[in-house]
Amino acid sequence: MSNRKGVIIAVSAPSGTGKTTIVKKILEEFPDLVFSISATTRQKRDNEIEGVDYFFITENEFKKKIDNGEFVEWEKFYDYYYGTYKSFIEGNIDKGKSVIVEIDVNGALSLKKIYPKSILIFIYPPSFEELKNRLKKRNTEDEADYKKRIERAKMELSLKPKFDYLIENKDLEKALLETKNLIGKIINQGE
Ligand code: 5GP
Repeated sequence: MSNRKGVIIAVSAPSGTGKTTIVKKILEEFPDLVFSISATTRQKRDNEIEGVDYFFITENEFKKKIDNGEFVEWEKFYDYYYGTYKSFIEGNIDKGKSVIVEIDVNGALSLKKIYPKSILIFIYPPSFEELKNRLKKRNTEDEADYKKRIERAKMELSLKPKFDYLIENKDLEKALLETKNLIGKIINQGE
């Protein structure tokens, strides 16, 4: 049996950039890749499934998990908490399974500090205007949340140079293909 550890691949993007769609397609393409299911205190959206997209927990539960050291990283993002389970990440990479983590920019940079071999991918919109339009169309947030996401997106875009790989999502099919080729290379490296 190989002792090779799995790779941690973090995918970040401002909200509304198509990151979730891309990650879902990537998981279909690479059945051995596992998705790190984060915990969050935000409300579940209608199209989401508990224990598949996230573990939806209360703020009290989340804070207990912080105190117990259950998260490898966590962030307070808008008014909600989001965290990556340490046991999930380490359990998988120790078995040689690569893990994909859909995470905000600060979380990705924290992961890189803890696991320097992790690979950070940033998906970015063709323009800021386009991002605003996409977020408006998605319509999953109320007006106050929408404004916070726009402000946040500006900060996130400024951190783009810190990422290992950059993918522009101007055309979804093209962005998908690029991401697929990149992840294929990352997973096969060292085999
Ligand atoms: P959303 O509410 O749209 O699902 O996610 C909001 C942001 O939180 C996204 O950028 C998403 O990638 C990020 N996120 C999801 N899970 C985690 C996590 O475990 N840690 C961190 N730091 N960010 C996360």
